[in-house]
Amino acid sequence: MKWNNLIFYINPISRLGYRKYSIVFPFLLIISTCLLSEFYAYQIAKNPNIVGNYIIFITVALTLYSSFRDGIRGGLIISIITIFYYFYIVHSRHYKGEQLTSGVETTIILAFLYIILAGIVGGLKETIDKLIEREADEKRRLEVIIEQLPVGVVVANNKGVVELTNKRLEQILGTSQLKGLIAGKDMGVVTKYDNKQIKPSQSPLAQVLNTGKSIVDKEFTIQREDGRTVYINVGASAIKNKKGKVIAAASIINDITHQKELDVRKDDFVNMASHELKTPITSMKLYIDLLLNRITQYNDESASKTLKSIRYQTSRLQALVNDLLDVSRLQTGKMSLNRELFNLGDLIEETIDALQQTSKNQKLIFAKRASIKVNADRFRIYQVFTNLITNAIKYSPQGSDIIIEINKEKNKAVVSVQDSGMGIPSSQQRKIFERLYQVTEPDAKTFPGLGMGLFISSEIIKKHKGTIWVKSEKGKGSTFYFSLPIFEKKKI
Ligand code: ADP
Repeated sequence: MKWNNLIFYINPISRLGYRKYSIVFPFLLIISTCLLSEFYAYQIAKNPNIVGNYIIFITVALTLYSSFRDGIRGGLIISIITIFYYFYIVHSRHYKGEQLTSGVETTIILAFLYIILAGIVGGLKETIDKLIEREADEKRRLEVIIEQLPVGVVVANNKGVVELTNKRLEQILGTSQLKGLIAGKDMGVVTKYDNKQIKPSQSPLAQVLNTGKSIVDKEFTIQREDGRTVYINVGASAIKNKKGKVIAAASIINDITHQKELDVRKDDFVNMASHELKTPITSMKLYIDLLLNRITQYNDESASKTLKSIRYQTSRLQALVNDLLDVSRLQTGKMSLNRELFNLGDLIEETIDALQQTSKNQKLIFAKRASIKVNADRFRIYQVFTNLITNAIKYSPQGSDIIIEINKEKNKAVVSVQDSGMGIPSSQQRKIFERLYQVTEPDAKTFPGLGMGLFISSEIIKKHKGTIWVKSEKGKGSTFYFSLPIFEKKKI
C-alpha cells in the first residue's frame, strides 16, 4: 500500500485526473537540484564551470516533469527558479566580455523555452484532468439515475464482464453477487425460458453481445436461491461506438411476478366459473326441451314461441361458456385432440347444410369441393369451420353470399370462407387471432361477441400443424383460410 502511495506521488501518469496541484513539491525539487549541482561542481568535480554542461538537460526534464505533474504552475516554478540559478551562475563565475553576453543571451532564450514548455505541457495536463473529471461526473450521474430506477439494470462490457448493476436488480434476482460475472460463461441465477433451463450462452446479454441485435419483451422465470420463483420480462440492447462496433450491452429486467400470479388467478377463476355454469345450463336446456314437448300438446303458439326463444338464448349462453372453457383449456395447455381419419369435404358439406338452416339472409355456396382425407379432431375442425361461417354471416349484415371452397395444395388441404361484408383493416388483420381481440372500429362495435372464436380456431389449427390466415379489405369483405396436412398412408 505504501509503495502504491509513493508511486502515485511520483508518477505523473498515475496522477492524471487528480486535480490537486502542488507548489511545494516542484519548489523543493528545483531548489535541491540547484544545491546538489553547486555541491557537485565545487566539492566533487572541483570545477565551477562544469555546471553549464548538464544543468540545461536536467532542468528541461524537470520542467516537463513538473508541468505534467502539477500543471502550468508546477512548470513555471521550475522555470523561474532555473532562470535565477542561471543568472546566479553567470554572476558567481565572474563571466566577462563575450562570455557574459552569451551567458545572458542563452539565459533569456532558455527562459522563453522553459515558459513555453511549462505553458504547453501544463495546459495539456490541466485539460486532460478536466476531461477525466467530466467523464467521471457523467458516470456518477448515470450511476445515481440507474440506482434509482424501478427496473433492474445490468451492463456488461464487450467481453461480457458485468460492470454495472443496480439495487432493484439485486432485489429481483435475490443476489448481490453479480458484478464481475461474465455473460456467456456464468449464470448468476437459474434461469428458465419456456420451462427449460437456459445455458449461459443463451442469456439475453450474451446473445446481444454476439449478434448486436436487440431483444424485446422476452419472458423468463428465475429460480432464486431462497426458493422463490420470479417471472421477469427482459429487454436487452447493444451499445455501439461510432463505427458500429459493439462496445457493451445493457439489459433491463422487469419483475412481472405479480401480474403473472393475477393472470393465473384470473384463468383459474374463468375456468372454475365456466365449469360451474356448464352443468346448470345443460340441465336448463333439457328442461326447456321437456317443456316444449309438453306445450305442443296444448297448441299454445305464444308459449311455444317464448320457449323457443328461451332455448335459443340458452344455446347462445352454452356456446359462450364452452368458448370460455376452451380458452381456459388452451391457456393451461389442457386441450387434447381426439384424432380420427375422416373426409374433410364431407364434414364441410354437412356443416354447410346445417348452418344454412339457421341463416335466412345469407346463402352459403359450396363453390369447390374436393374429397380429402385428414387425420384430425372432427369436432374441433367442425368448431373452427362453424366459427368462420358464423363470423362471415355476422360481419356481412347486408346479406351477401358466402362462398366456401376446398383446395388441394401440395400436401395440404386449404379451406376458404369468403364473404363480401365489412372487411378488416390491414393493421388489425394479425391481431384478430389474439385472445379477446375485437376490431376497434366504431361500426364493428355493435356486433355481439367476446373475441374468443378466432383465438380458439387459430390454436386448434396450430395444434393440427396447420395454418390459419385472412385476406381482407376494409369495406370489401374478407376471406378466411385454414390449411390442414392431408393424411398420407405411410409407404412400407
Ligand atoms: P367475436 O366475433 O366473438 O368478436 P372472433 O374471435 O370470432 O370474436 O373475431 C374477432 C374479431 O375479428 C371480431 O370482433 C371482428 O371484429 C373480426 N372479424 C372476424 N371475422 C370477421 C369477418 N368475416 N369480417 C369482418 N370482421 C371479422
